Amino acid sequence: MDRKDFEVIIIGGSYAGLSAAMALGRSLRTVLIVDSGTPCNMQTPHSHNFLTQDGETPSRIAQKAKEQVLNYKTVSWMNGRAIHGSQGVNDFEITLQSGQVFTGDKIIFATGIKDIMPPIPGFAECWGISVIHCPYCHGFEFRNQRTAIIANAERAFHLASLINNLTDNLTILTSGDTHFDMDQMARLQEHGIFIIAKEITEMNHLDGYIHSMTFSDSSRLEVDAVYAGLPFEQQSDLPFLLGCEFSESGHIKIDTFQRTSVKGIYACGDNSTMMRSVANAVYTGNFVGAMVNKELTDEKF
Ligand code: FAD
Ligand code: MG
Repeated sequence: MDRKDFEVIIIGGSYAGLSAAMALGRSLRTVLIVDSGTPCNMQTPHSHNFLTQDGETPSRIAQKAKEQVLNYKTVSWMNGRAIHGSQGVNDFEITLQSGQVFTGDKIIFATGIKDIMPPIPGFAECWGISVIHCPYCHGFEFRNQRTAIIANAERAFHLASLINNLTDNLTILTSGDTHFDMDQMARLQEHGIFIIAKEITEMNHLDGYIHSMTFSDSSRLEVDAVYAGLPFEQQSDLPFLLGCEFSESGHIKIDTFQRTSVKGIYACGDNSTMMRSVANAVYTGNFVGAMVNKELTDEKF
């Protein structure tokens, strides 16, 4: 059987995992990156708001990062999905879908999250193209356009206040009873923000670019962009299998050093933060790399 020891196994080889691997490779640590090739932003044509790569395709950023990281000869890459993990006395054992088994002294989860699409026809096709999750990532590109927000209550109010600065044509879609207090209603009205409470039955689009939505009474709203915050789940259940604790929001619980509740296991990127951006994934990965290197140093020096 193909079985090999590494100082660190990184599960997830997108921005967070590659960033951790760079710091560790530069410290001459033996590292295995396992990646199944499904980053959350794969359907987005252009990634924004990350210095030096503004407007680049998500895959080009990752490809360039991978090339630079694999220049460090102690870092290995494996395509595949890690499906099982167990903790030994001094290390961890990770099994891939292929049946290959690897051991690592430390584990870094850079596994990201998976957005759960609502069952509205057209929604999934528009996701990341004209249905977007974050005004910082794509709001500028849709400035001054006809914009809708699918949300309710505090979240809708917060998003509306942010997006109001980017466009004057803003509608909140609550898909049912609205939950705003009197003060919020007054302020939304003051800024000319409309509220529609009807159920959405279809998002009408061309190649992912939305042009209108249809409601339960067959009426339509013409829009160019929609913001939606989706429920999510962890992309990998390995952190759970290995005993990591989770926060109420569903993120892997970490301390200020990115350590999970299981000694020797760290997490970085989207799986353990609400600050969802390429810059933050790269930052937390970079920090984890240094923290894991320090733990290995403390144990071996
Ligand atoms: P991901 O990039 O999601 O990568 C996780 C990786 O882990 C994947 O490659 C996956 O295959 C792998 N993996 C998971 N489980 C396993 C397993 N068991 N075994 C092996 N591999 C595994 N941010 C910006 O800054 N600018 C933008 O313009 C922007 N646009 C976005 C558009 C959309 C539609 C979305 C959803 C997000 C966008 N973001 C943007 C946010 C950004 O994409 C994320 O913050 C970033 O991708 C997080 O990086 P990550 O490495 O933590 O996770
Ligand atoms: Mg060992």
